[in-house]
Amino acid sequence: MIAQDFRNYLKRYYETSARRMRFPCTTIENFVHWQGEAHNQLTRLLAIGDLSQVPLEMTVHVEEDAGAYRIQKISYQTLPGIRVPAYLLTPRQDGSKSPTLLAPHGHGYGKEQLMSEDGAYHQYVRRFAEAGFVVLVPDQISFGERTETPGCSFEHEVLNMLGGTLIGYRLWDLARALDLLETLPQVDDTRIGCAGLSLGGEMTLYLAAHDPRVKVACIASFLTSFAGTFLKEPHCTCGYIPGMARDFEHADIAALIAPRPLMIQAGTQDPSFLVEDARATYEELAELYQMLGHTDRVALDTFDGGHEFYVEPAIEWFEKWFAI
Ligand SMILES: [Zn+2]
Repeated sequence: MIAQDFRNYLKRYYETSARRMRFPCTTIENFVHWQGEAHNQLTRLLAIGDLSQVPLEMTVHVEEDAGAYRIQKISYQTLPGIRVPAYLLTPRQDGSKSPTLLAPHGHGYGKEQLMSEDGAYHQYVRRFAEAGFVVLVPDQISFGERTETPGCSFEHEVLNMLGGTLIGYRLWDLARALDLLETLPQVDDTRIGCAGLSLGGEMTLYLAAHDPRVKVACIASFLTSFAGTFLKEPHCTCGYIPGMARDFEHADIAALIAPRPLMIQAGTQDPSFLVEDARATYEELAELYQMLGHTDRVALDTFDGGHEFYVEPAIEWFEKWFAI
């Protein structure tokens, strides 16, 4: 039998041919020029350029008083005939507009997990609502009420055949969620942020990189590198985007968020998204933010924990930048 060494070939291919859109950290002018080109290329890779907006047609289905805030079960349209179920949490207000958080969930069972699970999420959406934030918690494609058999990998493959990407479609949904938030009377649309864990962190990364309406971001247990995660060991196929690692590393996608405030969270015991990889990416970004004159706008929050969301520093991060 002839020895096989294709994995090593792929590793060498990454080392010699990947990251073609690495961000420049030379001058502000060079960097801003790169941002324009990188944004265009990111949009091409996500393959969402030919989608068109449809009326949101938000409907409120159920309403519940949760004490410090109100929970509405809503839905809205993001693609023709496709409605996104979501929870909208609104703190008790005096009629003034509130800072707002969009909270995409991770790879699990959807919005209910963020609302009720103490484990990895520590119910951060409720904690933000208690702190005075409007919070929108949508189900992403393939999860929660949007689960279809056989699931996300199949939807990924079908979209792949049709020239799309599932991450791109999820991003499209989240951008429409921003459209929706901008229409709500309780939302201060100058203070909309996004925070998520794992796949929710991945979607926070792509959404904030793609859409400047996200003013502040917190990415938990995701922002490391493709080399240290998806290219090193198998993850669910629904997170794989054709061509992405050829052109961008995590740091390059995050560079599209600069100079907006970005918090990176990493647990020291996370077995898949390693804290040392998060630190290396943070250091690249810290150099960039320094070049841009905003060293305080990027932060690495490491904590003694696993693959989870660390709530208090995240709330403090948003309160700081939203001047609460
Ligand atoms: Zn998946």
